[in-house]
Amino acid sequence: MRIDVLTLFPAMFPGYLGQSLLCKAIEQGLVDVQVHDLRTWARDKRQTVDDRPFGGGPGMVLKVEPVVESVEAIRVMADDPVHVVLLTPQGHRFDQATAERLASQSRVLLLCGRYEGFDQRIIDLLQPEELSIGDYVLNGGEVAAMVVIDAVVRLIPGVLGDDRSCHEDSFSGESRRLEHEQYTRPREYRGLNVPEVLLSGDHGKIADWREQRSDQKTRERRADLLPGQSCEPTDRIP
Ligand code: SAM
Repeated sequence: MRIDVLTLFPAMFPGYLGQSLLCKAIEQGLVDVQVHDLRTWARDKRQTVDDRPFGGGPGMVLKVEPVVESVEAIRVMADDPVHVVLLTPQGHRFDQATAERLASQSRVLLLCGRYEGFDQRIIDLLQPEELSIGDYVLNGGEVAAMVVIDAVVRLIPGVLGDDRSCHEDSFSGESRRLEHEQYTRPREYRGLNVPEVLLSGDHGKIADWREQRSDQKTRERRADLLPGQSCEPTDRIP
C-alpha cells in the first residue's frame, strides 16, 4: 500500500512515522508513506498557498490552484489509482469500518487542511472522500492524518505480530463489539485477582467468558454498537 500526505507541515511526520509498528511496516516495505509539502505547488516566489476569504471574516483559506495541481502531480507519481481523502471536521466520522475499507485500497492520498480550511472548489473538482476524526476542531489536518495512517496501517497483513489481533479488537470482526478485559502477570496485585477461568487452561470456557464479557461491556458502555441501534447513547456518563 502507498499513502501520500499533502501538508503545509511535512516536518511533523518523520518523528511519528519513525517509531514502533509504523517504522517497522515502512522498513519491511509493507507500506510506503510519502509526505509532500503543499508549498512546492505554490505559484509565486513567496510560496503563497492561502488567501483571505471572499465575503470577509477571520482567517485564511487554502487556495484552489496549489491543492488541485499538487493532487494531479501526486496522482501520476505511481501507477495505481489514488483514493483521495480530505480531512475536515465536516466529514463523515472516521471509524474502524472506514479504516478497513481504506486498508483495502492500494493508494490513499490524505489532504491536510489549515487555517479556515479549503476553498470549496477543491472539493467540487477533486470529489474527495471527506473524513472527520471526531466532533471537535483541530488546528490542522496533520494529527487527523496520523490517526488515519495509524488505524489503517495496523490492518495491513503482516504489520501486527499476529494478524488475528486486529480481528478481535474493539469495533472489529463481525460483531464490532468492545473487547473483553485483558490480564497479564502477576496473578494477584494488591488484592486484585485475575479471573480464575483465564488460568484454567480450558479454551472453551475462556472463549465463553470473553464472549460474555465483551457482550456485557458493549451493553453497558456502547449499546449503540448492538444490532438495531444506530446512534450513540446521549446519556453516557464518563
Ligand atoms: N473552519 C473549519 C470548520 O469550521 O469546519 C475548520 C478548519 S480547522 C481550524 C483547519 C483544518 O484542520 C481543517 O481544514 C482540517 O483539515 C483539519 N481538522 C480540524 N478538525 C478536524 C477533524 N475533527 N477531523 C479532521 N480534520 C480536522
